[in-house]
Parts: sequence; C-alpha cells; structure tokens
Amino acid sequence: MAIIPHMPELPEVETTRRSFAGRIEGATVRQVRLGKPLRWPLGCPPQSLQAQTIGAASRRGKYLWLPLERGGLLLHLGMSGSLAFSESPAAPGAHDHFDLVTSHGTLRLTDPRRFGAVVWSPAIDADPAAKLLDGLGLEPFDAAFTGEHLHRALRGRRLAIKQALLAGDVVVGAGNIYACEALFEARIDPRMAAGRVSRARCERLAQAIRRILAQALDMGGSTLRDFRDAHGMAGSFQQHAAVYGREGGPCTLCATPVRRIVQAQRSTYFCPHCQKR
Ligand SMILES: [Zn+2]
Repeated sequence: MAIIPHMPELPEVETTRRSFAGRIEGATVRQVRLGKPLRWPLGCPPQSLQAQTIGAASRRGKYLWLPLERGGLLLHLGMSGSLAFSESPAAPGAHDHFDLVTSHGTLRLTDPRRFGAVVWSPAIDADPAAKLLDGLGLEPFDAAFTGEHLHRALRGRRLAIKQALLAGDVVVGAGNIYACEALFEARIDPRMAAGRVSRARCERLAQAIRRILAQALDMGGSTLRDFRDAHGMAGSFQQHAAVYGREGGPCTLCATPVRRIVQAQRSTYFCPHCQKR
C-alpha cells in the first residue's frame, strides 16, 4: 500500500501542541530568528517579543495560539510544516524559517514549502488572529457538535457531503483521510448532496468523525516521540484505514473492491456497496 503524502491535519496539530505546550509554558522569550518569508509576515518587530513570558498553548482548528504577555503568536503548519521543541537545537537548516528561542528551549518551525505561518496578534479575538479564525466550524470534540448541529448546518447545501466536510466551516478536523473514513463508518455515499443527509445519518456521521479523530489522536500520542514525525501520523493512521488509499482492495465489510474517485481535486475512497445515497 502506498502512503499518500498529505498536509498536517488536526490530529497532527493537536499532537504537536501536546508535545511542547507543557515544556514551553512559563518560559521567557530570549530571541526570535526568522528565516525565509512564510505565508504571512510576523507582523511585529521580532525583538519586541523578547523578555515576554509564554502562557498555555491552545489549538483552534489547525491553528495554534501561543499567548505572550502582550498579545500572542498564531501558528499554522501550512502544507508541509512541522514544529519541534528542543533544549539543544542544531543550527538552523535551509528549511527552518522560525525559531522562538526561550529560557526552556527552542520552538522551531521547519517548512520546506513555506505555506505555514507565525503571526503576531494583540489577542486571539482581535485581528489578524480573529480574521484568520473567522468562519471555522465547531471543534469535533465540542459538546455543541452533534448530529442535530450537523444536520442544521448542512440544510439546503447541494455540495457533496465529502466536500462539505473538507470545507471546515461546519466542523473542523475532517481532513481528506478522516472524512473518507468517517463517511465509510457512517455508510454514507461521499457524492451525496450534503443537504440530503438525514438527521439520523448526520448523528452517525458526527459520532464517526469524533471516533476517527480520537483514534488518530490516540495513535499520535502512543507512537510519536519526535514531533518532526507528526507527518507520519496520517501515514500510520492509513495503515489502519478501512477505505483510504485502498483502491481496488476488498471492503472490510463486504469485500466489494474499494473505489477511488476525484472530488474537487482530492481523492475520495469509498465502498460502492456499503455506502448509500
Ligand atoms: Zn462494502
């Protein structure tokens, strides 16, 4: 089975957060080193961050928020970024574009394609952070994310359910691999119009999204030590996938060959027998 290259998804971002949040909290910023330009500029003079104490890192969608005494940093891993925290980092390499050197160690963003970003904002609910986070759907583990919420939010949408999940404006975290797996688990044809998925099936889908993401998080927590490996997460998750990356292979439930189609330039894998419109 070929492991399909992918961008960091919510489980990788959350696993990354857990890897450094406890170690960096309470540290003082000593220096900020910038490499080549990232997707958006930092938005403040790097030296203005010096001597500030770092608070508890949080996550919203695929963004991480690192609070400082004055404002904070909003980080995104883009298409190929990874964050690593180290007490004794090597000299920055060609793809290391942001170092936050602190009294506890260095948080480093490595990002070959440079679609990632580190942006200063006066508060998480003030611009530019607010503008970047605006329009994100509910967190999948938020108690408000229910089948009823999903059903109401999808009402009237003619877009395919798979694409509606990927859009991230109803619920965050259902990236390509996880959306395919959740739709399989809920037995929903990925091509079905989002607005036609019944309330009962929305309930199953909401549960499936939560279960799949929890499974990916468990896997990340148990198998990863160095979070430069966070990119391996979807890869290791894929080893356990029921349909994703398994074109032509037997469905785990009915043995019908798994089909691959392309929706909005993304591969969708599904069982044409088990998943109904
Ligand atoms: Zn099947």
